[in-house]
Amino acid sequence: MAEILDGKRVAETLRGELKDRVASFVSKRGRAPGLDVVIVGDDPASHVYVRAKEKASTEVGMRGRVHRLAVDTTELALLTLLETLNADDAVDGILVQLPLPKHIDETKVLDTISPWKDVDGFHPENAGLLAVGRPRLVPCTPMGCMRLLEVAKVSLAGLRAVVVGRSNIVGKPVAQLLLAQHATVTIAHSRTKDLAAVCREADVLVAAVGRAEMIGADFVKEGAVVLDVGINRIDAPELGAGKTRLVGDVRFDEVAKVARAITPVPGGLGPMTIACLLANTLHAAELRVGR
Ligand code: NDP
Repeated sequence: MAEILDGKRVAETLRGELKDRVASFVSKRGRAPGLDVVIVGDDPASHVYVRAKEKASTEVGMRGRVHRLAVDTTELALLTLLETLNADDAVDGILVQLPLPKHIDETKVLDTISPWKDVDGFHPENAGLLAVGRPRLVPCTPMGCMRLLEVAKVSLAGLRAVVVGRSNIVGKPVAQLLLAQHATVTIAHSRTKDLAAVCREADVLVAAVGRAEMIGADFVKEGAVVLDVGINRIDAPELGAGKTRLVGDVRFDEVAKVARAITPVPGGLGPMTIACLLANTLHAAELRVGR
């Protein structure tokens, strides 16, 4: 049976470390690092994520502030708010919760956030720096993946890594980070032929697809380490009429019998992502004003 990579516990340790570093920043700089989260519209899941980010930031001693904007907010109003936050010295990290309503151009919004305050690591300048091996602000979920691999004592040099998913948010940056640690990396996606065979090559398999329980034991090599990034809500009639539950992209029960280590959903990359967001906010503050 695989070792369970307990993201909740590792995230707690990381938050504990951050609390001490935040206290030291406060005593030297006379203010707390500040994270500003912007949300447009009323998607319930996004509001849950945003509340969790706000709570986590205040728990480690940072200033967390949420800007809740109406669904009909214009693109210009959002861009103007971002420019104000860019210019505000007390704001160290800016995050715009995705997805945005259809009438707002996501690329324009992400490009407007100052690359020095881009704690999601989505700005093309930060993506470019990561690609040329000079990481500055790195996307949070990929960072969480690397931290869990470290905890599992996976020495990546020379290992075969397969990342399923090629988004700018997860797939591409996690592949860059694995490559930087000298893994031999394959990025698979919806056009990949014989995906199961490609995945079976992997010593480290990262699933970032967004398809409930797509990856079964037949995709996994005996002894592989499996990181399940997917968060999918499915109907769960066994819990009662109309109930749902969260599952990953991986069929946990069957893959856990084959893998050496595996992340659960929930309790894997989810909590790691939030802890890494806090780490990025402190890092951004230190980059701008010093430790
Ligand atoms: P995207 O939808 O942006 O990307 C999904 C990727 O999966 C695409 O590259 C797509 O390929 C690929 N894909 C889709 N279907 C298949 C298939 N049948 N076979 C192989 N590849 C396929 O998703 P994200 O990267 O944003 O997120 C992925 C998952 O991770 C989601 O469930 C999301 O909720 C979750 N997530 C979790 C986070 C956390 O905190 N734990 C944070 C961020 C995301 P193509 O490019 O060809 O379309």
